[in-house]
Amino acid sequence: MAKYVYQFSEGNGKMRELLGGKGANLAEMTNLGMPVPYGFTVSTEACTRYYDDGKVIAPEIEKEIFEHLCKLEEKAGKKFGDVNNPLLVSVRSGARASMPGMMDTILNLGLNDEVVEGFAKLTNNDRFAYDSYRRFIQMFSDVVMELPKSNFEKIIDEMKEKKGVKLDTELDADDLKEMVKRFKAFYKEQKGTDFPCEPKDQLMEAVKAVFRSWDNPRAIYYRRMNDIPSDWGTAVNVQMMVFGNTGDTSGTGVAFSRNPSTGEKKLYGEFLMNAQGEDVVAGIRTPQSIDELKNIMPEIYDQFVGIVNKLEDHYRDMQDMEFTIENRKLYMLQTRNGKRTATAAINIAVDLVSEGMIDKKQAVLMIDPKQLDALLHPQFDAAAIKKAQPVGSALPASPGAACGKVVFSAEDAVAFSQKGDKVVLVRLETSPEDIEGMNHAEGILTVRGGMTSHAAVVARGMGTCCVAGCGDIVIDEEKKVFTLGGQTFHEGDFISLDGTTGKIYGEAIPTVPASLSGNFGTIMEWTDEFRKMGVRTNADTPRDAKQARKFGAEGIGLCRTEHMFFEGERIKAIREMICSKTVEQRKKALAKLLPMQRGDFEGIYEAMEGCPVTIRFLDPPLHEFVPHDEADIRALADEMGMKYEEVKATIDGLHEFNPMMGHRGCRLAVSYPEIAEMQTQAVIEAAINVQKKHADWKVVPEIMIPLVGEIKELQFVKKTVVTTADEIIKKSGVDLHYKVGTMIEIPRAALTADEIAKDAEFFSFGTNDLTQMTFGFSRDDAGHFLEYYYQNKIYESDPFAKLDQVGVGKLVQMAAKLGRETRPDIKLGICGEHGGDPSTIEFCYKTGLNYVSCSPFRVPIARLAAAQAAIKYDK
Ligand code: ADP
Ligand code: MG
Ligand code: MG
Repeated sequence: MAKYVYQFSEGNGKMRELLGGKGANLAEMTNLGMPVPYGFTVSTEACTRYYDDGKVIAPEIEKEIFEHLCKLEEKAGKKFGDVNNPLLVSVRSGARASMPGMMDTILNLGLNDEVVEGFAKLTNNDRFAYDSYRRFIQMFSDVVMELPKSNFEKIIDEMKEKKGVKLDTELDADDLKEMVKRFKAFYKEQKGTDFPCEPKDQLMEAVKAVFRSWDNPRAIYYRRMNDIPSDWGTAVNVQMMVFGNTGDTSGTGVAFSRNPSTGEKKLYGEFLMNAQGEDVVAGIRTPQSIDELKNIMPEIYDQFVGIVNKLEDHYRDMQDMEFTIENRKLYMLQTRNGKRTATAAINIAVDLVSEGMIDKKQAVLMIDPKQLDALLHPQFDAAAIKKAQPVGSALPASPGAACGKVVFSAEDAVAFSQKGDKVVLVRLETSPEDIEGMNHAEGILTVRGGMTSHAAVVARGMGTCCVAGCGDIVIDEEKKVFTLGGQTFHEGDFISLDGTTGKIYGEAIPTVPASLSGNFGTIMEWTDEFRKMGVRTNADTPRDAKQARKFGAEGIGLCRTEHMFFEGERIKAIREMICSKTVEQRKKALAKLLPMQRGDFEGIYEAMEGCPVTIRFLDPPLHEFVPHDEADIRALADEMGMKYEEVKATIDGLHEFNPMMGHRGCRLAVSYPEIAEMQTQAVIEAAINVQKKHADWKVVPEIMIPLVGEIKELQFVKKTVVTTADEIIKKSGVDLHYKVGTMIEIPRAALTADEIAKDAEFFSFGTNDLTQMTFGFSRDDAGHFLEYYYQNKIYESDPFAKLDQVGVGKLVQMAAKLGRETRPDIKLGICGEHGGDPSTIEFCYKTGLNYVSCSPFRVPIARLAAAQAAIKYDK
């Protein structure tokens, strides 16, 4: 018979898939002999089964849960629902991959009006018993019954105000009894039924709620951001309660074995006396630093440090732990490999290698490539920041520099950023509902909360700059205004945040790009030791090429020549070319462009220092370049000595119903071979010039023909290229080699790749167009409806961000195989947006591509992801 429930003592750390991360680690700590309150785990398989069965818990699973509850009662020496000696439990979610703050936990479950009385007697502590009870009602209502916590907070605030006190801890037992009454009355008023008083019902409802929470919108969003499949499910942990809220001899806290912001090897954490679970992270009271525990309870502190060291040694990684002290006795409630900033991740990995804890391969594997993004983003301009005067400061919760317009809600953050504005999200405190807005923000500033508050944890995970707990701010979120340091800020005003120092600036401060140095450089050197696939960049200008080279690019995989046409004088020349009536006219216009393109190519070759450069010929539909205003059209007509009507008619004639599938790509070179001629001349002459200057470089231009779907198309354009190139090379007397290849971005090209490889010396997978044409929807339009597809679980992620390995990937694999059959030494690369996505890079490695090409700022990410793929798949 299938087993769905496991006591902590039955599991171990390797059983993540079945028990979830939290459950597996609780089992592991139990096995290591650490003080973990007894409990059991309902497996992820039970969650999957719950969904398969139509969102019900099968009777045999329910039975198994209660059998394990009996075992727990025996171990605890207490009985669930018993008036004289009650067992209270927590119900905690725990997915395979940690999803902080995404799932909800219920504490103190098993209380009702009778049990609480007995509990008070047993503990001889009315205040504590009723504090536990009111917390339970609050959490259960919120998590299970969808009655938001804030309603209850309002009641608490009213009571505190009436009594004239500031802290929860200043309320006495009678106040709390009164609070319970009010909570229950409020519940009944809202729900129309009494608060559920049968502990067994409470338990089953709570388990179901955890299963349900696997599919709440913020969990779905988090999964999409983090590539977590929706069929993994979450486990549920049911654990005997230990109490940090019995009085001043109790407390609760969280700690990291190393500093999660900097990586410094020093215990780092916060705790609160007389508090329970969430209090520390919720930012209700300001917690104390873990170092103070040394003064308050030295023995407990020493015991804790012993456990921390043992855990780090055991997991060989930085640990993030939760603990509770109940009447001077320490309990461990959670451990996991801690989330950390990119800086900390790098420093910790390098430190662990020098401490002999792990080897270089493990160090490379332990860094999340996506996280490097944070280090590759701009920092404040040093001179500008020196001059700037902060208007305030708070906790440096997640490093980096942010500059943007103030917004006051997650929705506004999304809306502003979709309009192209950079935003800083300013909130009283953040909650899991805000996650999408936080992801769109350059930086996050909160009024409440500490280093382990929701905002801080989530921001560090995202690599977003965050300054937390700025109590000096007076904010009105509804009116969208706050004041700080005597200044008033409204929505849309600029502020800047320094997540490394915690300083807040009431102005826009310019930022500068990052560089690879110190431990970051060391890690990148290690990646190159293991990496087998090349990493190139997509760069259209000498400036981008230089930046990419600094980040370690080994060539250019895609240079989009049309981007050179848009600027200044060039756009005029290209317009003349487009509106030409005769070949002569067109050649005259192209002659104006030739020196500009040649100059750009020379700059790019210089920047790439002899590395290969793939240049794609003109790709977009011509209408993208032409003017539509009457005045502009008239100016163009004058310039060309043509009539306004004539030029206007030409422009109107360029109208296309579906331009992305229209007159573009190699089709342009088929209609107007002189364009390909000019571009060939520019590429080859630039290469010759640069080769002459640098005898030690081997400049080999790679000319890439876009949007080929038929071998004869490629042959036609290639003929123009070869004729032009060979003549120039011959005249120059330089021994220059060049290649002609194509993009594989039309499904027909993938299907006939064996044919195409006869003439193509290389393939570069243009996965943007290939995705577009395989799915039959465009990237620009998909945004309008993909949201519905996520909601209905039709697609889990954006196929334009993460390659669809099943469909589009099959075309890539097929084309790679067919291409190699015809031409065994064919060079294969990818140059779509996907080339910088770690999961796609892994796929490319497995498919046997020679290189990936991505935007300059993603080059280090790609180097790391490629190294990880090589380590993972070469065992
Ligand atoms: P999350 O995954 O959001 O951290 P947890 O399940 O870890 O949620 O629980 C939330 C808080 O409740 C934590 O601070 C944890 O230490 C505390 N907690 C959970 N179970 C117990 C328990 N059995 N006794 C005391 N505190 C608990
Ligand atoms: Mg936790
Ligand atoms: Mg394309």
